[in-house]
Amino acid sequence: MIEIEQATCKRCGEPIELKEIGPNKREWCSPACKQAAYRERENKQAQQRIAQLEQELAEKDELIEQLLGKKQSKQPFKRSLQERLTRLLEQQDWPALDIHYRVKAGQKEGRVFIIGASIDLLSRALGQLEEQQS
Ligand SMILES: [Zn+2]
Repeated sequence: MIEIEQATCKRCGEPIELKEIGPNKREWCSPACKQAAYRERENKQAQQRIAQLEQELAEKDELIEQLLGKKQSKQPFKRSLQERLTRLLEQQDWPALDIHYRVKAGQKEGRVFIIGASIDLLSRALGQLEEQQS
């Protein structure tokens, strides 16, 4: 007497045709169900990856907030300027600023500027100097 196990589709639970049962039995009732199961698995993995990246982003944002909090100046005057600027930027929803940046004459002033300036400011300074040379 042969016992035949009734297999069901891993996705929809429909019975799989008996002729398909054997050593290499199918796991799905149809190619469409197999395809759908594959897509569902891909989709679930993508959702998990997105959730993981969102978690990592939240952690990085938290770290940036902590570091920015520590970076405020200890000098009272500079600190008051930083706080006023923060308030105004917040009120205006953090707009872009296009400010002319003046570097005073002198070797010390130039070197301090070079150390602290952003890439944008360094490029603008190079542009001005190279234009003056030619
Ligand atoms: Zn199915």
